[in-house]
Amino acid sequence: KKKKKLSDTGKILLGLIFGAVFGIILNYLVPDSSIKNDVVINGVLYVIGNGFLKLMKMLVVPLVFTSLICGAAAIGDTKTLGKVGVKTIALYICTTALAVSVAIGVANLIRPGIGLNMSEIQAGDAVTTTTTQTGMADTLLDIIPDNPFGSLANGTMLQIIVFALIVGILIAKMGERAELLFNFASQCNDLMMEMTMFVMKAAPIGVFCLIAKTFSGLGLDAIIPLLKYVISVIAALAVQCFGVYMLLLFGFTRLNPVRFFKKFLPVFGFAFSTATSNATIPLSIETLEDKMGVSRRISSFTIPLGATINMDGTSIMQGVAVVFASQAYGIHLGLNGYLTVIATATLASIGTAGVPSVGLITLSMVFQSVGLPIEAIALIMGIDRILDMIRTAVNVTGDAVCTTIVAFQNKAVDIERFRREK
Ligand code: ASP
Repeated sequence: KKKKKLSDTGKILLGLIFGAVFGIILNYLVPDSSIKNDVVINGVLYVIGNGFLKLMKMLVVPLVFTSLICGAAAIGDTKTLGKVGVKTIALYICTTALAVSVAIGVANLIRPGIGLNMSEIQAGDAVTTTTTQTGMADTLLDIIPDNPFGSLANGTMLQIIVFALIVGILIAKMGERAELLFNFASQCNDLMMEMTMFVMKAAPIGVFCLIAKTFSGLGLDAIIPLLKYVISVIAALAVQCFGVYMLLLFGFTRLNPVRFFKKFLPVFGFAFSTATSNATIPLSIETLEDKMGVSRRISSFTIPLGATINMDGTSIMQGVAVVFASQAYGIHLGLNGYLTVIATATLASIGTAGVPSVGLITLSMVFQSVGLPIEAIALIMGIDRILDMIRTAVNVTGDAVCTTIVAFQNKAVDIERFRREK
């Protein structure tokens, strides 16, 4: 099964490379003609590329909705949520906010978007959307839906999250009386995961078309900024993984972080090759217990919760993407803009389901919050699958580090077992 996943990724990589080459050929070698522009670039490439994008978007509301209901219902009653829950959630939120800040810092150092001149696209219009923002109180009140079905229909993410969490918690509280509902929600969740896998089958062609269209318009000029974007994301992920996590783990528990990473490596690799936090849950719980002595009592709740709401790697990609797009479109963000990005990317991480490519979809919410054009996502879409693999590995590492810290503080780590060589 693992082999097949890897070869899926291989196909996407091929789609990416051939798409880039084809786009560059279109840009440089083929003279301008209506066949090239209308039939190929704005015809076939546009329709297939954006068709794939739309299929992915179609998944997001039902996916987030059902995955959150199941996550919340799995926690059990609100009492078990109690102290451990509050601590875990606080830690998850703090590490994510830290991750976005790291991403913004690194991206501002590398400046990936400079050199891509997309500013002729109505930057003025985009900026005005930020100025029409509502006040703080209304923004807060806005997370409560007037009509949950309306929120689902409009894809208002935060409202969907709030409603799904309440539904999940109450399903757990009702126990047997809501068994049917629980099974229904978890089957819907399975269905949406299947559908995601199904849609992802079209990814190599979708990626080919999207990247070919990008390069056909920008030619080789697009390569350097895109490369810098990839390097920025990877650098920020590395800082988070080997800097922030190591410090947190050592600071809170005095456990040896190098030993932790060594023992966690197979889980890291599995998350990398599948790009799915959700699929990694069982292996992560198992490894934490077997090799590091972290009690299942804690991890069976915190790991699935983390796979649903804690996506540090994803929020890093989003932080870098914001800086990249703002530079490419010449839109100045300023301190307020960056603070908004930290807040929305942290919330988007809560709304990102642990399956491939969803982070790219919730990115639109982050872009909207600071008035960046959504079309900018198409620029980075082609290379996202590879970054998805790396960020997923960081996502699950974040869950495991926080779990170990919370378990340690609840005396639920068998230190002897942690210290063992294997
Ligand atoms: N693939 C990621 C995960 O499963 C989510 C994403 O960033 O798209 O954790």
